[in-house]
Amino acid sequence: MLDKKILSQLESITGRGGVCSSPEDLVVYGYDGTFEEGTPDAVVLPRSTEDVSRIVKLAAAERIPVVPRGMGSGLAAGSVPFRGGIALTLTRMNRILEIDQANAVARVEAGVVTADLQAAVEKAGLYYPPDPSSQRHSTIGGNVACNAGGPHCLKYGVTGDYVLGLTAVLADGRVLRTGSKCIKDVVGYDLKALFTGSEGTLGIITEALLRLIATPKFFRTALVEFDSMDGAARAVYAVLAAGVVPASLELMDETAIACVEEGLHLGLPLDVAATLLIETDGGDEAAVAREIETAAEICRREGALRLKVAANEAERAALWKARRSVSPALGRKAPNKLGEDITVPREKIPEAMRRVKAIREKYGLPIVLYGHAGDGNLHPNILFDKRDPEQWKTVEKMVAEEFEAALELEGTLSGEHGVGALKRAYLEKALGPVSTEIQKRIKQALDPLNILNPGKIFPE
Ligand SMILES: Cc1cc2nc3c(=O)[nH]c(=O)nc-3n(C[C@H](O)[C@H](O)[C@H](O)COP(=O)(O)OP(=O)(O)OC[C@H]3O[C@@H](n4cnc5c(N)ncnc54)[C@H](O)[C@@H]3O)c2cc1C
Repeated sequence: MLDKKILSQLESITGRGGVCSSPEDLVVYGYDGTFEEGTPDAVVLPRSTEDVSRIVKLAAAERIPVVPRGMGSGLAAGSVPFRGGIALTLTRMNRILEIDQANAVARVEAGVVTADLQAAVEKAGLYYPPDPSSQRHSTIGGNVACNAGGPHCLKYGVTGDYVLGLTAVLADGRVLRTGSKCIKDVVGYDLKALFTGSEGTLGIITEALLRLIATPKFFRTALVEFDSMDGAARAVYAVLAAGVVPASLELMDETAIACVEEGLHLGLPLDVAATLLIETDGGDEAAVAREIETAAEICRREGALRLKVAANEAERAALWKARRSVSPALGRKAPNKLGEDITVPREKIPEAMRRVKAIREKYGLPIVLYGHAGDGNLHPNILFDKRDPEQWKTVEKMVAEEFEAALELEGTLSGEHGVGALKRAYLEKALGPVSTEIQKRIKQALDPLNILNPGKIFPE
């Protein structure tokens, strides 16, 4: 609990209603999309970069931890305030400051909800592709801080590929402005890249300058059914190896499909082992149709049972609703889930899926497998009950083996969720000692008092 004097100093910065400290308020800001929990000492809701700067200056003077937070949808416990302090929540900074059509750039505050930005730029005839499945309940600040991906990142790239510039408040309260509207800007180190994916440990992102592109006009979306996971995995690799680059190539296994179907009744097939959701898009209708046909032909060759192309926008929307609902739908099967996001090079996708299946068979706890298969980015979700210590011990062993498998296959621990608190023990295994040491020195240089999201990314 922060003393009353500090709470009132914070409120003098934010104005009335900008600081919450009742037990009920604190509990609401103490968790994210995982099962982890921690209680902040206060929730502070700034309205401007200037507010954030003054809050961080006060926190630095008083040595209070500051945990930046968007919508709390993260899947690595990155915004969980394990050491108390201030849950600095950016959701009131939700203005789209500029959509510059001439230069195809948007300037937004960090608390803008991703889907709101996408809808606004679409009205202006432009497209912001990074689309985490949580797009309706995550912020641009959180997306930049995690370098979020999403189903359309196979063709279009991840959040970091669209960050042209950032405004960030540093650990001493100074305001850093980096980058510009220029597509090419190589003056000095690329600080926007350093802050992208820094998970709130180097600074508080308050504004982002984002690149936009032309909206694709035509889409073809197909659901392809397989009677084996192996067939689906081979098809993913074969489609990519043939040089087809779909906008999306998403995998759902039988349990993922069943959980979504039980809840949403969309008419998904319940007699299959796996499905692939394949979408092609672009400005040339004939080329988009040709690409889905090529992908379909390859899937048939690899043993697809059935294949259905969405006949209209409503059918396409239903397929996407199904895919985006997998993560929350898993709550039907078990009290807890641990969803990882290992990533492997595309050639290793079938082997990675086999390794995950072998871990499931070895330990007996269910692992649901879905994810952005075309990126080699898989979300094996272990279903369990954290109240049972034996199950938790088993989960820890299973996760360690998933990570080992990813690294052995020349992959990595996380394609989009970040390290947070959940993967920090494995950091050095993934990065090696030299890279880990350099990363620690960057943190030390930018946040010598260790007040920004302490305990995240680095093992303690
Ligand atoms: C159902 C579901 C589906 C998901 N699908 C995807 C997906 O497809 N792709 C994907 O990449 N992720 C996905 N996620 C994970 C999550 O939504 C993303 O990581 C998202 O980017 C988090 O945004 P947020 O605003 O909720 O951030 P939070 O969860 O609040 O914070 C995440 C991290 O960013 C830091 N942070 C937040 N805001 C700032 C800021 N302004 N400045 C500095 N640091 C900040 C926090 O300290 C924390 O470390 C999914 C999550 C759920 C629950």
